[in-house]
Amino acid sequence: MTDLFDLTGKVAVVTGSTKGIGKAIAEQMALHGAKVVVSSRKEDLCDSVTAEINELVQDGAGEATAIPCHIGYKEQLQHLVDETHSRFGTIDILVCNAAVNPFYGSMLDVPDTAFEKVMDSNIKSNHWLCQMVIPDMVVRKDGVIIITSSVGGTRGHAFLGTYGISKAADMQLARNIAVEYGPDNIRANAIAPGLIRTNFARALWEDPEILAEATANAALGRIGEPEEIGGVAVFLAARAGSFVTGQTLVVDGGT
Ligand code: NAP
Repeated sequence: MTDLFDLTGKVAVVTGSTKGIGKAIAEQMALHGAKVVVSSRKEDLCDSVTAEINELVQDGAGEATAIPCHIGYKEQLQHLVDETHSRFGTIDILVCNAAVNPFYGSMLDVPDTAFEKVMDSNIKSNHWLCQMVIPDMVVRKDGVIIITSSVGGTRGHAFLGTYGISKAADMQLARNIAVEYGPDNIRANAIAPGLIRTNFARALWEDPEILAEATANAALGRIGEPEEIGGVAVFLAARAGSFVTGQTLVVDGGT
């Protein structure tokens, strides 16, 4: 293999890959030759994004298949893994990307239900999925785990604090896996995007005041596009990133 970024023959599962950052990661991985599982809660969107990607990679080695999954349910995560095995084989690249943020505001006001939902969806479901996928990687002595964290997990925040706690934990999850399973040639890293133009962050980048604040200290003076995270994920998954593990790569335009 001469291309450092080639993913030909690799099986990649990307949670939350029908929109935004996850979709860009799935597209880029397929364009680099991977067999990609497109997944989110909505079956029709999984099907249409899968068709889009297969159209895009028509002449390449990569391909996509749709397996819907709500990351909040352990049995759906297990189905995602089992169904991937039967369609494509064991998983080489796991991208834990889907996350939720049901609450903006003071930590004094966050309801227990919202706090628990954030911790369950953004930490526990990633932990579960890693538990389901790592044993096969250990047998093959090969595997890559990528967790979409956030710059929100690198600093304190007055109204996104609970989300930030969950994203800081995602960085630690990657570090723990890197240390425990490095000897089995499994690499684990987190990506911490800054503000990216997706639906998830629409309330932030559509607000002129927040947008100005978010870009004021950015070296590039702008917010990011989902595709700009896709390339970073390919780098981490491919041979190009073969000596990178346990890290959180901040991708925020130099903020
Ligand atoms: P997005 O454009 O809203 O896409 C989110 C994706 O996740 C969709 O495919 C959505 O599809 C799926 N999803 C949502 N809840 C799900 C669930 N419970 N189970 C399974 N799939 C679910 O969001 P995004 O901005 O790309 O966010 C992706 C990741 O980047 C998240 O981890 C987020 O925390 C992180 N991030 C985003 C930014 C930013 O500025 N955008 C910055 C830092 C970090 P369905 O709704 O159809 O299920």
